[in-house]
Amino acid sequence: MQQTSPDTPSSLKIYLRLLGYLKPFVGHFTVSILGYLIFSSSQPMLAGVLKLFVDGLTAGSAAQQQAFPLLGRMELTYGIPLLVVLIILWQGLGSFLGNYYLARVSLGLINHLRQRLFASLLHLPNTYFDRHNSGHLVSRITYNVTMVTGAATDAVKVVVREGMTVAFLFLYLLWMNWKLTAVMAALLPVIGLMVNSASRRFRKQSRKIQASMGDLTHIASETIHGYRVVRSFGGEDYEYARFSRANDENTRKELRMVRTSATFTPALQLAIFTTMAAVLFLVLLLRGDSSAGDLVAYITAAGMIPKPIRQLSEVSGTIQKGLAGAESIFEQLDEAPETDRGTVERERIEGRLEVRNLTFRYAGSERVILDDLSFTIEPGQMVALVGRSGSGKSTLASLIPRFYHHAQGKILIDGIDVEDYTLRNLRRHIALVAQQTSLFNDTVANNIAYGDLAGAPRVEIERAAEAAYAREFIDQLSEGFDTLVGENGVLLSGGQRQRLAIARAILKDAPILVLDEATSALDTESERHIQKALDRVMANRTTLVIAHRLSTIEKADVIMVMDQGRIIESGSHAELLRAGGHYARLHAMQFNENETEETKKSPKTTIGMEINQPHEHSKG
Ligand code: ATP
Ligand code: MG
Repeated sequence: MQQTSPDTPSSLKIYLRLLGYLKPFVGHFTVSILGYLIFSSSQPMLAGVLKLFVDGLTAGSAAQQQAFPLLGRMELTYGIPLLVVLIILWQGLGSFLGNYYLARVSLGLINHLRQRLFASLLHLPNTYFDRHNSGHLVSRITYNVTMVTGAATDAVKVVVREGMTVAFLFLYLLWMNWKLTAVMAALLPVIGLMVNSASRRFRKQSRKIQASMGDLTHIASETIHGYRVVRSFGGEDYEYARFSRANDENTRKELRMVRTSATFTPALQLAIFTTMAAVLFLVLLLRGDSSAGDLVAYITAAGMIPKPIRQLSEVSGTIQKGLAGAESIFEQLDEAPETDRGTVERERIEGRLEVRNLTFRYAGSERVILDDLSFTIEPGQMVALVGRSGSGKSTLASLIPRFYHHAQGKILIDGIDVEDYTLRNLRRHIALVAQQTSLFNDTVANNIAYGDLAGAPRVEIERAAEAAYAREFIDQLSEGFDTLVGENGVLLSGGQRQRLAIARAILKDAPILVLDEATSALDTESERHIQKALDRVMANRTTLVIAHRLSTIEKADVIMVMDQGRIIESGSHAELLRAGGHYARLHAMQFNENETEETKKSPKTTIGMEINQPHEHSKG
């Protein structure tokens, strides 16, 4: 406990908490400890047999029988070998019970911890993911967990098995010659001190190793995900160097850890064998009336002690590694999940969306992203949001399903504060097509019917795909709706991915639809088709459309122009054009581009411009 520093919880606390996770496995754990007890008890037995053997060699048969009353008159010639075999069988039984049942405990614990970590990922707030890189989160599940079970179970195995072995041998030694044994025991505190000082360093180093494993995973996965960018921008050397730095760093830290344990172990050996030498000396000096068998057995038993002690000393490395892992795991498990204090649940809502004096900053930042926004969208209305990049449109969209918590102002759905709905219920009423489409490495059909929608009838999936204008390309895929789309849909084009995301939202059939740049990757023709489909979908639901291309939102009931978190203009397309403000200027610019598109008949380049231009212009 004395090694507690303000920010790191004490090892003992972490360890006790970790052992708490072993509760469900108490039965198996007990069996395995029993097994190790059996195993350890066999050690002094072996030394005992040796005594019989040596005494048998040196003394007459009367002495033999006296020395070993258990066997009675049985010939030692048969008895001793038989005894050896029996002891080893006994030891084998113990070894099996111990190892097998402990493995059940440790694998069970790994399974449980992984599941808990994963479950926590499903409920952690968005801000947590913004703050932590995915590599660290992943390596916590894959790497740290196994380290932890090292501490919880492997260490226990060593502590119990070797600890008991030492205890049994020690008792045997005391029974044989307590004076000698007392001298030996005097050196134990020295050994204890050494173990203690080494263990702190182990834990510190191990924490660093685990962090650097996270860095490695992070860099590797970033490069894997962004391999196209890496190649097209010549990032190979940069990534290679970056990975190599992290890799070397990891190796260096591992090596430092090994160095600590490698210098520690021989030093400990030296201490132990100096003790042994002293024992040998004392045995020779104080042999008294002990038989040769007694002495041989004594020295054998004493000689058996250093190995388990060494293993016990090494266990502190395992424990410290595990504690470092446990610390980071508990940190994540202790992280508060998304706040969900709402109680309102509605089977069906009308979809009236009201924003009142909404002001928002991201946690840890002073910058106001949304500045006193107020507007209302009536059920069935379509409201469009335009504005330069970074003006806060996506932020607004992500506040509606409460991806982030807003402290000032209100967002009301059907007159009820979104904070008052339960998270699950709230999100059921909102279909969001995010700016970055996310697909899973699964079939087209399962990507459309994802989550709550899983198991939707095939006809409905097909209908949604049709409405999203995705049918034409899905039918051309080798397996149609059963084609795998690859990780995050890499086997599809950007526009195809968007259409699947739209199909997903259509299938969800929620009263509130939020489309964040949902059609930005589509060519003019698909966009027109999808527009028609969306018109149908939007007809009886509240829709918030965020778009850069103004052609997609002309029909909106209200168009709001956002700038630096404020709504600077709003009205219908015609009204805004007449007003001749920002919207009119933006529209004129895009209209000119469309003109050139028509004359050049080269839709591809124009699409690129259409998407990019508004950013460029609005920045100027
Ligand atoms: P675009 O048209 O490019 O999609 P946008 O209007 O959707 O832009 P937002 O994504 O809402 O813009 O971002 C608004 C501002 O908030 C940006 O300046 C950005 O730096 C900041 N921001 C966005 N997401 C986060 C986040 N998770 N944490 C902190 N700041 C953020
Ligand atoms: Mg955005």
